[in-house]
Amino acid sequence: MNAQEYIKTTQEKWHTQYAAEPEFLQVLDEFVESVAPVFEEHPEFVEKNLLQILAIPERIISFRVPWTDDEGNFRVNTGYRVQFSSALGPYKGGLRFHPTVNQSILKFLGFEQIFKNSLTGQPIGGGKGGSDFDPKGKSDNEIMRFAQSFMTELQKFIGPDLDVPAGDIGVGGREIGFLFGQYKKIRGFENGVLTGKPLSYGGSLARTEATGYGAVYFINEMLKTKGEDIAGKRAIISGAGNVAIYAAEKLQQLGATAISVSDSTGYIIDETGIDVALLKDVKEVRRERLTAYAEAKETATYYEGSVWDHDIQADLAIPAATQNEVKLPQAEQLIKNGVKFISEGANMPLDAPATEKLLAADVYIGPAKAANAGGVAVSALEMAQNSQRQSWSFEEVDGMLQDIMKDIYNNAETAAREYGKEGNLIAGANIAGFKKVADAMVSQGLV
Ligand code: GLU
Repeated sequence: MNAQEYIKTTQEKWHTQYAAEPEFLQVLDEFVESVAPVFEEHPEFVEKNLLQILAIPERIISFRVPWTDDEGNFRVNTGYRVQFSSALGPYKGGLRFHPTVNQSILKFLGFEQIFKNSLTGQPIGGGKGGSDFDPKGKSDNEIMRFAQSFMTELQKFIGPDLDVPAGDIGVGGREIGFLFGQYKKIRGFENGVLTGKPLSYGGSLARTEATGYGAVYFINEMLKTKGEDIAGKRAIISGAGNVAIYAAEKLQQLGATAISVSDSTGYIIDETGIDVALLKDVKEVRRERLTAYAEAKETATYYEGSVWDHDIQADLAIPAATQNEVKLPQAEQLIKNGVKFISEGANMPLDAPATEKLLAADVYIGPAKAANAGGVAVSALEMAQNSQRQSWSFEEVDGMLQDIMKDIYNNAETAAREYGKEGNLIAGANIAGFKKVADAMVSQGLV
């Protein structure tokens, strides 16, 4: 079978097999279109049925998470860990606590994670996990009891050389602390089992900042290629979690202006630039809605709805909320707003029609698996520090992060050029990430 036929047959098979898993199917479709030229060049990948093998996780663990709320009611959620690929190292990827979590979402995120992790150049495989538990409105004690129950089961399947979870939406330093405490109680002190830990027991400096800073380092490389300077640029940011917060911080350190952030019900426009200290206080300390930001700052206005529907001039966009937040109408609005560069802080924030529209309008897109890889890259540096029993300075880690983001950009840009997709970083990142994984799988005998 030739590469074209193989890809066509595989895609048809997937469309039947994964009809009930739309997000997973979306990521497979996006991926397969980019990597077709690699299969043309490597008939052995076709012969070894790599595509179909890769699309099935090595293992999916799904479990019951019973817990009690503050009123003493017995509650239950479903927990998951998708151990997708260990071709390059131990499974690595975040845990997401959000009511939308299901197997399709975690398979899409886990699949993306394989190639993102490959792009970082660090020795880590791909995985993802989480639960449909909704942390919103829960007390600290409820979060703790839920996290303990979740880890009581998960600990059977993870370890510093086996699978190393971290945070994602709904899982930050507080949750990682509770998860770590329960792991330690059952298995003993092994600080390399989770990343994104607080600093006092093995966390890495610059890990909290890494995804947001990395997304900005990445867009800066994109700008440089086009002969543009980041200073003076205006950026629309969505989200108000640690990706958005630290993207805003880094943009402003480099002389650009972050004019927005958003949460689940609305968004802030602040033409004078987001006040990062205030944002951190509202979101990380007080854990309040963005309306509290607008109440505290005169230049800020709070609007209900999506920031991507807002009519406002900007040069850059960093979608850092969640998957598929930008669809066709929002893509059209972005083009109207004058946005020329996008760095995906969230995973798959642009759906397929939006991506197509933006590419056709010559918007330069930094895809998630490349642009937001800074977080997991620094997680790998955290693992390295833990196994060396050392702790590196902020400057050291940040310097390594900058080098890694530059390498990822160059590798994606070069792969795109070499495979006839010049200027398409989406294709370039898929190709560069995939080739390493494919070579490792073939070399290991497809176990
Ligand atoms: N959840 C983050 C991501 O999507 C970080 C994962 C990690 O540090 O393991 O890449």
